[in-house]
Amino acid sequence: MPDQPIRFDLPQSAIPTHWYNVQPDLPRPLPPVLHPGTKQPVGPADLSPLFPMALIGQEVSQEQRIEIPDEVREIYKLWRPTPLLRARRLEKALDTPAKIYYKYEGVSPSGSHKLNTAAPQAYYNKAEGVQGLTTETGAGQWGTALSQACTFFGLECVVYMVKVSYQQKPYRRVMMQTFGSTVYASPSENTNAGRSILAQHPDSTGSLGIAISEAVEAAATSGGKYKYALGSVLNHVLMHQTVIGQEALQQLEMTGDYPDVVVGCVGGGSNFAGIGLTFVHEKLKKGKNVRIVAVEPAACPSLTRGRYAYDFGDTAGMAPLVKMYTLGAQFVPPPFHAGGLRYHGMASIVCELYDQGIIEAVSVPQLDTFDAALRFAKSEGIIPAPEPSHAIAQVIREALDAREKGEARTILFNLCGHGHFDMAAYEAYLGGRLENYEYPQEDIDAAMASLPIIEA
Ligand SMILES: *Cc1c(COP(=O)(O)O)cnc(C)c1O
Repeated sequence: MPDQPIRFDLPQSAIPTHWYNVQPDLPRPLPPVLHPGTKQPVGPADLSPLFPMALIGQEVSQEQRIEIPDEVREIYKLWRPTPLLRARRLEKALDTPAKIYYKYEGVSPSGSHKLNTAAPQAYYNKAEGVQGLTTETGAGQWGTALSQACTFFGLECVVYMVKVSYQQKPYRRVMMQTFGSTVYASPSENTNAGRSILAQHPDSTGSLGIAISEAVEAAATSGGKYKYALGSVLNHVLMHQTVIGQEALQQLEMTGDYPDVVVGCVGGGSNFAGIGLTFVHEKLKKGKNVRIVAVEPAACPSLTRGRYAYDFGDTAGMAPLVKMYTLGAQFVPPPFHAGGLRYHGMASIVCELYDQGIIEAVSVPQLDTFDAALRFAKSEGIIPAPEPSHAIAQVIREALDAREKGEARTILFNLCGHGHFDMAAYEAYLGGRLENYEYPQEDIDAAMASLPIIEA
């Protein structure tokens, strides 16, 4: 048998020097973000209580390439470039002619892709004299990454952690505390937003939307001491993640293959954009024929069942109004295990690409994702987080479809995090205690009826 490589590594000098900004490549400009009170487009003055000017600039930038500061590249060197692997053993287990490649972001110190944006966000806040950051976290990956980044740059970090995750993932909380962060279960008694939810729903297990309201309020009322950091959704966050796709493209050149399909899971859209936007550029500007597929949970189907409309980014209506595929800001998803995919909306960039038919979207039920996770773990040896297990489920569908059609197909996906803190979810699955949640149409209809009305 010929010597077949399965791992493709780049030297540290190959860490990208620039982030790729997709905005100038979009067929039409992104819809403006609106002020939640006046419903007029927001300007820098509206955002400056929450974000440093450098990030506000990146949010609306039309430059195609933005230089990565040396201080941030120094941090990236702790784990980047991440490896690209070929899942030969999975291919064999599936008896498929398809080639399956994955980019493994779980090698970062936080175990996921989130540190790619946490590091620059902490850097720019520090550079503008901010004392600390507030944020929310769902599954805990973002809170962990931001805690690490704040430590690296000497910032305080206050995390509002969705209560269901706080209870299900105590060790994620301890990790954040190890890096010096203060962690509250959300909804909490600390903020008006938290107190008003608790008054109506004392047993609330929380949601990302509620935790965002709390973290935004805590920053906005701090008199400039704290600013707010978001781990996904925003344009600058998606842009910071493009180091993933840029590296993957270089690594694929080493393999001699080019992807027919690129797959990523979507919660807010950042890891998907991280791997996918490079290929959006390839498709739009270099005429490449590549399908780019976003995979979401059937229990939180923003793209596949939501509506493309203006909605609040949070539950209390304090965050700006964004045009996005949404299930409604009041949406509280059932407590399925992919905590990072439980957001009611979606990144504006991902929504525009979907609306324009440049990317595709599919949904998968929870049990399929764990079945896929086990197949992957048994053949590749890595236990994936529940979120990228959605991508793996779709990769398996693609590989089996290729087998059925007798087609060679090259598949690339983003394995955006490992599942070492998700053993409770695996235990529930192995014990037969997990079920599928299909979001009821009448609940979606009710949420749609309460969307804010915006005159076009
Ligand atoms: C946060 C997270 C997600 C969901 O967020 P995106 O912005 O959609 O990437 C998915 N997977 C992992 C491992 C995460 O940490």
